[in-house]
Amino acid sequence: MSKANYTIETDICVIGAGHAGCEAALACSRLGFRTVIFTMNVDSIAMMPCNPHIGGSSKGHLVREIDALGGEMGKNIDKTFLQSKMLNVSKGPAVHSLRAQADKAAYSQAMRAVLEKQENLTIRQAEVTDILTQPEVEALELFADDSGGHSVFEGDSVSSGNAGFSEPSASSEASGPSRTEKPRVAGVKIHTGMVYLCRAVIVCTGTYLHARCLVGESITETGPGGMQRSTWLRDAMGKLGIPLRRFKTGTPARMDGRTLDYSRMKIQPGDPVVVPFSFSTDPADVQIEQVPCWLTYTNEETHDIIRQNLDRSPIYAGIIEGTGPRYCPSIEDKVVKFSDKIRHHVFIEPEGRFTNEVYVDGMSSSMPDDVQQRMYRTVPGLENCVIVKNAYAIEYDCINANQLKLSLETKAVDGLFCAGQFNGSSGYEEAAAQGLIAGINAVNYLRGREPLILERSEAYIGVLIDDLVTKDNREPYRMMTSRAEYRLLLRQDNADLRLRKYGYEAGLITQKQYDYVLYKEEKIREETERLKKVKIGAAASVREILKSLGSAPLKTACSLAELICRPELSYEKIKELDPDRPALSKDIVEQVEINIRYEGYIERQKKQVRQFEKLEHRKIPSRIDYDDVGSLRNEARQKLKEFLPSSIGQASRISGVTPADITVLLIYLEKNRGNADK
Ligand SMILES: Cc1cc2nc3c(=O)[nH]c(=O)nc-3n(C[C@H](O)[C@H](O)[C@H](O)COP(=O)(O)OP(=O)(O)OC[C@H]3O[C@@H](n4cnc5c(N)ncnc54)[C@H](O)[C@@H]3O)c2cc1C
Repeated sequence: MSKANYTIETDICVIGAGHAGCEAALACSRLGFRTVIFTMNVDSIAMMPCNPHIGGSSKGHLVREIDALGGEMGKNIDKTFLQSKMLNVSKGPAVHSLRAQADKAAYSQAMRAVLEKQENLTIRQAEVTDILTQPEVEALELFADDSGGHSVFEGDSVSSGNAGFSEPSASSEASGPSRTEKPRVAGVKIHTGMVYLCRAVIVCTGTYLHARCLVGESITETGPGGMQRSTWLRDAMGKLGIPLRRFKTGTPARMDGRTLDYSRMKIQPGDPVVVPFSFSTDPADVQIEQVPCWLTYTNEETHDIIRQNLDRSPIYAGIIEGTGPRYCPSIEDKVVKFSDKIRHHVFIEPEGRFTNEVYVDGMSSSMPDDVQQRMYRTVPGLENCVIVKNAYAIEYDCINANQLKLSLETKAVDGLFCAGQFNGSSGYEEAAAQGLIAGINAVNYLRGREPLILERSEAYIGVLIDDLVTKDNREPYRMMTSRAEYRLLLRQDNADLRLRKYGYEAGLITQKQYDYVLYKEEKIREETERLKKVKIGAAASVREILKSLGSAPLKTACSLAELICRPELSYEKIKELDPDRPALSKDIVEQVEINIRYEGYIERQKKQVRQFEKLEHRKIPSRIDYDDVGSLRNEARQKLKEFLPSSIGQASRISGVTPADITVLLIYLEKNRGNADK
C-alpha cells in the first residue's frame, strides 16, 4: 500500500493561519468542534506581512467588535503592543479609534501559543491542494487500518498520476457541476496526499494563492515575505465552479533603524494613559513603557526620482495584472495622482522591541532595488539608510465575494466558507472579522442553526460583509468610517453593548461576561435617567463652582444632564454639584456622558435605523423565481438572479437595481406572500 493515501476524520478544516484563519479556527474549536488549521508555514501564524499596527480609523472599531463577540485579536494586541494611541480624539466619539503598534514577532508567537493551547484544535503545516465534495469522498475506497485511519487506493476519482497531482491549469475559469443538486464539502487533500474528512471548510488563503512578488523587473513566485506560496487550490476552486480574480497590494521597505537619523524627524509618542483594545483586559496591564514612532516627509527630490523611473515600475509598466487598493496607494501612485503635493507623510514605525528593523509607512512601492536605494535616501533622516527588506508588490488569487451569502458560505457549495483577503478585502482587522463570522457560521451550519448575520445598523462587521457580498468591489476593500451610515451608533466604545449578546448566543462569551453587559446597560439607563431628573438651582454655591469651572452661572434651575451638555463641563467636572452620585466605573460613565451629550443625534440615527430595518427585515424567499416577477427590468432581473439577495434591503443596495425595481419586487412578494416560501 506504498502509494496509499491516508485519511483523518475531523469536523472543520480551516485553510490558512493568517488573521482570518486564526479567528475562524479558534471560534470553531472553542464551540466544541474538532478543527484542523492548515498553514504553509507554522512560523507564519498570524504574521503581519505589512504595517506593524492593529486598529486605526474604523479598523479599531472592527477589533473592538471582534473582541465583543469573543474573538482573539484584541486580547492578542493588548499583550504584544509597543505603542498605543486613541486617534481622532479632537473629533466626535463616532470616529475615535484605537491604534496600537505591534511587536510583530511577539504578536505571531502569542497567537500561536493561544492556538496551541486550544482544545479541539490541531495545527498542521501543509499545503491544502484540493477541496473534496461528497461524491468525491464517496469515490474514495476506504479501508480501515490498524492505526484507526483509513487508506485510499490510487486510481479513484480524486486524483490521478503519482501522488495524484497534475500541474494546476493557467485559467481560473469555473467549470463546476450543474446547479441542480448543490455539491457539499466533505474533505480536503494536502500535498502529501493525505485526506482530511470533514463537514465544513473555511478558505482563508490571504495573499498566498498563486502569489508573485514584484520588485521592479525582479519577480519571484513566492508568498508574502518570501514565504512559500500556494498553487493547487486555484484548480480546486475552478472545479467547484468558483471563479477567481487577481488583486494586488504592496508594502514599503524595512530599514535598519540604527542607520536612521531621528534628529531630523518629529517624534510620535503613544498616549500617556493607554486604553486596551479588549473589554477583558485590565487597563492596569497595558500601562507599559512605549516605543515611539517618528514622522518625516518625502520631497521633490524623492518625487523626481520616481517620475524619472515610472517606466520601470511594474505598476506603470503594466507587468502587474492584479488590481490594487485605492486607499493604500503606493508612493508611485501618490506622486502621479497627487502631483500638486510637494511632500507626503512618512511614518517610521518599529517592527518589534527586539529588532532594529523599522517600517517606512507611506512609501510602499514596487520600484526596482536601485531606485528604492536612491528614493528612500532623499527622505530627511534616511540619508544613510540601509534597506533590510525591499519594498514590493504582491499579486494573488482571490474571489469576488458576490459569490458568498451574508453568512460567508459560498452560494455554489454547501459547507464551504471563505474569509479574509481571499474575499477581496484588505487589512488584518477586516480579515479577522470575517474569519470570526465564518467560524461561527460554519458551526451554525453543522448545528443546522440560522447563521449569524450582523446588520449594517448593528456593526462595522455588518457593513464590511454586506459591502463585500452585495456591492461590486473591483479593488481590495478596506474599511472606513464613511462606509458606515449609522456610525454614531457603531462607536468603538459601545461594541460590547451592541454585540456581546451575539457572542453569548453563539457560545463564545461567558455567562459572567454577558451578565456584566446586562448590568452595565442597566446602570447606564439608571444613571442617565437620574442625571435628567436631578435639578440644580441657581444658588450662590452653584454659581461659585460653575465660575471655578469657567462656566456661566445658571439663570434658572436645570438638570445635571443639561450641565453635562455644556462644552466646558463634563460628568467628572460637575461632581461637586452632584454629591449623591453613585460610584460607577469609567466605562459606564463614558456611555452615560456620550448618551447625554449626543442624545439628539443618537435619537435621529435610531429613527433612521428603524426605517432601514423595515426593508432589511422584509426577507426574500430563497426559492424566488425572478423570471416570474413580471415587470422587472432586465438588468435588475439579471443582477437579482446573480446576487440572490436575502432581503429587500440588501436588494436595494445592489448596483443596477433601482427603487422602481424594488417597488415591483415588493408588490410581487405581497401578492405571492406564502407561495414562494413553500
Ligand atoms: C505585501 C503586502 C502588503 C499589504 N499591504 C496592506 C496594506 O497596505 N493595508 C492593509 O490593510 N493590508 C495590507 N496587507 C494585507 C494584510 O496583510 C492582509 O489583509 C492580512 O494578512 C490578511 O489576512 P488573511 O488571514 O486573510 O490572510 P494571510 O494573513 O495572508 O494568511 C493566509 C494564510 O493562509 C495560508 N495558506 C494559503 N494557502 C494555503 C494552502 N493552500 N494550504 C494551507 N495554507 C495556506 C498561509 O500559510 C497563511 O497562513 C498587505 C499584505 C501583503 C502581503
